[in-house]
Formats: sequence, structure tokens, C-alpha cells
Amino acid sequence: MVNFNTSGGMGAAVKECCKCGANVAGRLRTKDSFGNYYCAACFQAKHDQELRELLAAQMPEPDLWLRIPVEAYAVY
Ligand SMILES: [Zn+2]
Repeated sequence: MVNFNTSGGMGAAVKECCKCGANVAGRLRTKDSFGNYYCAACFQAKHDQELRELLAAQMPEPDLWLRIPVEAYAVY
């Protein structure tokens, strides 16, 4: 008779933040669509980053804005 013991070492479900590696088992955590866990702090940072990228993507011509010299805005 074979007894499969998965209680020690490999096979144990480890829930840790995919960013900072903090153990989030039993703590406030978020799981994204890829199955990655985030602690509260890292999820907030990830959310902020995604929001920034979303806003930048909505700029009509971000390159154009960067190429305009600052002097062009100056009013004499
Ligand atoms: Zn984290």
C-alpha cells in the first residue's frame, strides 16, 4: 500500500506575493487572471502602474508632445 504524503516540502500550496515574495496565506491578497498572488501593497502599486499606462495610451500623440520645445509654450 502506497501512502502519498504531500504535507511536507513539495506539493504544498504556497501563497506568496509574486512581486515581493511576502507570504499572503491567510492574509489580504489579490489573485490576478494569471493565478499570481499579490499582497495588498503590491496590488496597489500594480494598479497604479496600469492606470498610468492606460492614461498614456489614451494620449493622441505622446511622441509629438515630447518633441515640442518648452519655448514654444512661452508667451512673451
Ligand atoms: Zn507584495
